[in-house]
Amino acid sequence: MRRGTNLPRMGDFNQTVVLDVVRRAGGGLARAEVARRTGLSPQTVTNVARRLLDLGLVVEEGEAARTGPGRPGTLLRLEAGSRFAVGVHLDPATMTFVLLDLSGAVVARAQVPTPVPEDPEAVVAGLVAEIEGLIAGAGVERDRVLGVGIAAPGPIDVAAGVVLDPPHLPGWHDVPLRDAVAERTGLRAVLDKDVIAAASAHLWHPGEHASDFVFFYLGTGVAVSTVLHDEVVRGVSGNAGESGHLTADPEGARCWCGRRGCLGAVLRAEALAEQGRAAGVDLPPWGDGTDPRAVDQAITALCAAADAGHPGAREVLALAGRRVGMAAGVLTDLLDVPAVLVGGPLWHRIAAHAAPALEDEVAAHVVPGGHGLAVASSAFGPQVGAVGAGCLLLARAFAPRPSDLLLVS
Ligand SMILES: [Zn+2]
Repeated sequence: MRRGTNLPRMGDFNQTVVLDVVRRAGGGLARAEVARRTGLSPQTVTNVARRLLDLGLVVEEGEAARTGPGRPGTLLRLEAGSRFAVGVHLDPATMTFVLLDLSGAVVARAQVPTPVPEDPEAVVAGLVAEIEGLIAGAGVERDRVLGVGIAAPGPIDVAAGVVLDPPHLPGWHDVPLRDAVAERTGLRAVLDKDVIAAASAHLWHPGEHASDFVFFYLGTGVAVSTVLHDEVVRGVSGNAGESGHLTADPEGARCWCGRRGCLGAVLRAEALAEQGRAAGVDLPPWGDGTDPRAVDQAITALCAAADAGHPGAREVLALAGRRVGMAAGVLTDLLDVPAVLVGGPLWHRIAAHAAPALEDEVAAHVVPGGHGLAVASSAFGPQVGAVGAGCLLLARAFAPRPSDLLLVS
């Protein structure tokens, strides 16, 4: 059931709406133009702008061009350095950290191997140490850091901030990651699933902004998230995106679910390495696949072989791109969305060889809705999960979401 809202909350909402318009404008924006773009009255814009100036979130700069009688107003511009957010991407092989300013730009970054991935306590300790190092190293005042966004492999309990039983993190069962990070850093923390965080990076950045798209995430696992009308579809438990069991190849490798050729089973890093070995590529051993770093080295060798022109290696990586394209066609038809973005650490590694095949597959796809179907690799590269995690924190603090206006008991 939907419930109403109260006036103070509406004021907060208008504040985020104005900030959002000023932020997306990039340069300065006159108050009259803010009023035009938001539909708010000039008086409301003036009041809201005053509050944003007092908070230091925007600054006045320059003068607007004269468009009518009266004094031209000063321009409002986002003060990007007024607030910061930390974004963390916890992957079984690698932990990635970024410090974002309010515009979402990366001002500091770090990447380290995940310490003893099967030991949550060691991972949390390492994660907190890196967060502290990142903030201190950037020379940012701590009270300007809004908090930490964490992207973790699913499934997770979003409300409780708990990582449940991720298949690629053995030893992790019901780990209260959000609160552990919040307690040890003293910073506000939010936890979301990696693929949902990754898509969120594209919602915050004006240059990368699309309102409706499907995001394929290729990391340790394969997942898909959907953005409709500027909001990531989270599902009823915050675990939307488990698309790993779409059948990509009925004759393909056995999936842990019992069937053959599931998308996740044929696209994950270990499967690509196996396909490479079967195609005659000489790869270092990766054991039973439980050591993500060994699998990572096999992928490095597979990509190097493709770079050197090994036809088997090239075919394996091109097939991976085609498979993403085929699945993308199904999902974009189902949802009637006009764009596909692909990203994540594994995609970033293989994109040079996989993206052309993906683009061919998408170009050949006939869209029933009549609109085009655009495809692109995420501009955030292997950091997309960490950037998105930071953006989730910024969005929680500053993005206007109509759903926030609804009163919940
Ligand atoms: Zn399966």
